[in-house]
Order: sequence, then structure tokens, then C-alpha cells
Amino acid sequence: MKVYADYAASTPCDERVVKAMLPYFTQDFGNANSQHSFGRDTAKALADAREVVARILGCDPNEIYFTSGGTEADNWALKGVALHKRDKGNHVIISSIEHHGILSPADWLESNGFRVTRLPVDSTGLVRVEDLEKAIDDETTIVSVMYANNEVGTIQPVKELAEVAHRHGALFHTDAVQAIPYMNINVREIGADLMTISGHKFYGPKGVGVLYIRNGVKLDKLICGGGQERSQRAGTVNVPAIVGLATALELSRRTLTEDCAHIAALRDHFEERVEREIPYIRQNGNKLHRVPSIANYSFEYVEGEGILMLLDFNGIAVSSGSACSSGSLDPSHVLLAMGVPIEVSHGSIRFSFGKHNTLEEVDYIVDKLKETISRLREMSPLFDLKNGGTYNV
Ligand code: PLP
Repeated sequence: MKVYADYAASTPCDERVVKAMLPYFTQDFGNANSQHSFGRDTAKALADAREVVARILGCDPNEIYFTSGGTEADNWALKGVALHKRDKGNHVIISSIEHHGILSPADWLESNGFRVTRLPVDSTGLVRVEDLEKAIDDETTIVSVMYANNEVGTIQPVKELAEVAHRHGALFHTDAVQAIPYMNINVREIGADLMTISGHKFYGPKGVGVLYIRNGVKLDKLICGGGQERSQRAGTVNVPAIVGLATALELSRRTLTEDCAHIAALRDHFEERVEREIPYIRQNGNKLHRVPSIANYSFEYVEGEGILMLLDFNGIAVSSGSACSSGSLDPSHVLLAMGVPIEVSHGSIRFSFGKHNTLEEVDYIVDKLKETISRLREMSPLFDLKNGGTYNV
């Protein structure tokens, strides 16, 4: 049996999305900026896609900028605002549990003379509004706090955070990549000035994302060249991917409630069994404020990489830490920021469910997980020591 439970890393493209994209590779392939009928046809598809995305996010089409994905949109928001407003102030604030799409440009800004504050989180991964109140000052130009975390799923109080930012004259950006698949987000209601989403997290294609930029917000360009995206983001526009993103977003809104209910039921069943059947575990995240898809557990006395490998051997795809940082054996910065001890964080796994998962698959995962954990613990010197063994290190 093969089971995919890594939907927070990526989702399969919906067949209807692929169908909507196909004509733009072959028949309607014109450059959307060309001045002939081929160009006009793709420009129309681009305008329609922009309108769909704007309607769903609750903004004007001219506030939607298509990018090559969530990472580019995050980079653009943070660097673009910080560099543009350098004369006003050189302070930026992010949370300590952001995706690397924000963490890395923040590091870059710091090494280029900016002051960066990384807000702490509580043990459930929540940013406290009062910590932002304490950190923000007259020099702060942008506050960037993700909507939902990609490793533990915790949902942040973005509306309150945006209010604090605005009260101090700073802009507010949120990386909503993990939230948008599960939440109806209206950018005006939450008060975001900039917001990131990415196509491949809601059954759309990879390599395409959106940066919402509220009208009136000024930021430096990240990618310079031609006059695409109203001269703000250069490069021939990826029309098939953009059509795919808009189609996927629209389709996801139609079945949002049912999909969330289905996914949450699977996750609850999973958690209920894991907590009943596997000892020495710790759940990471916030039970009240979270997306329905993610369950993150630390399994004490074992290594996450070992769990991953044995589950993979049984056809099960899950993730340790975030997909982008796995491959490295560094402990998760998110779990460390939440106060999870380093040795415990090493044994952590993110299970993320999606609309194609079934109850049978979830049971299969738990069965194999139980076997895997006991097998690894049998070989674990730490587990042996804990049980009074005399393992000689
Ligand atoms: N932000 C978050 C919270 C994510 O989970 C991801 C993807 O894992 C990204 C940004 C990056 O998006 P993309 O893969 O489109 O670059």
C-alpha cells in the first residue's frame, strides 16, 4: 500500500486544473505581453485568472501580483518593503517560526545593516500580541507573521497583529501559504497589507504563487527586467500555471467546508489512536487554533530520520520538520522556538492529511507507525537506559 500524508509539502494537481492549463501550453501559447491576437488571448486568460483570485481574496485585481511561488512572494514582501522604506527606519519584525522564505531574507537584511527582531512563540507555537507591542518601534517598517505554521499548523492572531503594526505605522505581511487551503481569507478583513499564497498547496501547480499588495503600498522590485505585472515583477508571465492556480483556488472554495470536515475527521481519528496506542509521545501545536490537516508528534527515544525511512519502506510518505529543511539533520527551528528539548525535537514527525486520504489509509499509517516506533526503541540505547538497561556508550 502507498499512502501519501505529506499534503503540507505539496498536493497532487487536480485533474480539472490540469485540463484548464493544457490549452495554454499548446494552442494558446502566446506571450501575454505581445501585441497580436495570440498575445491578446493569453492576456485575457491572465486577466480572468487575476479577477478570480482577487474576488476570492476580497481585493481588487490590480492588487494581485503573480510570482514563481510562495518563496518569491515572501522574499519580495520582506526585502521589498524593508529596502523601499530604509529612510523611514531599518527595523523589521518577523516571528521565530517563519518559513525559510521569510527567515532567509530576514538574515540577508540583517547582514546588510537592518535590525531584525524575531518574535518568540509560546509552547503551542502562538505569537503573543504583547510581544509584538514590546518589540515594535518608530523604526519598524514591516511586521511579517505567518497565518498558519507549516510544521505544527498553529494559526496566528493575524488580525490583532496587523492592528498593532498599523498603530505604529508599520506594514503587515502574512505568509498564508498553509492557511489558504483551509480558510476563507479576506485580506481586507484581516487587515493585511501584503499576503503570500502558493498554488501547489491547494491542488494547483508548483512554481506559481501570489503576492497580494494593497493599493498604495510601495515596495522595491525583487526581479527587474520587462514591464510585466504592471512593471513590478519582470519575466514572461507563466500563463498556464497562473490559470492553474486560479482554477485550483476556485475549486478549493467550492468544497472547502466538506474537505475541511473530512480532513479534520481523519486527523482526529489518527490522533486518537496514536495517543492511545503509542507511549512516550508529545504532541506539538495548538489544539484550538490550527489548520485541520497537520498532526505533529515527537516520539521520544527515537530519531525522526529513522521513522521516516521505515515508514517510507512501508510506502508511507510523511515528513520530519519542513520539506525544505529535511535533508538536513538540523533540529526544527519551529520546535526549538516552542521550547521542545533538542533531543525530543529530533524524534518529531509531521503528518499532514489531504482530501484524498481515507480512514483505511490512516489506520495503515498508525499500524505501521506503532511497529516502527517499537522496533526503533528496541534498538535505542536511550530507551534501554531509561528502562534501567546497562547499555555501554
Ligand atoms: N511559506 C510556507 C508557510 C510554506 O509552507 C511554503 C512551502 O512549503 C512556502 C512558503 C514556499 O512556497 P513555494 O513552495 O511555493 O515556494
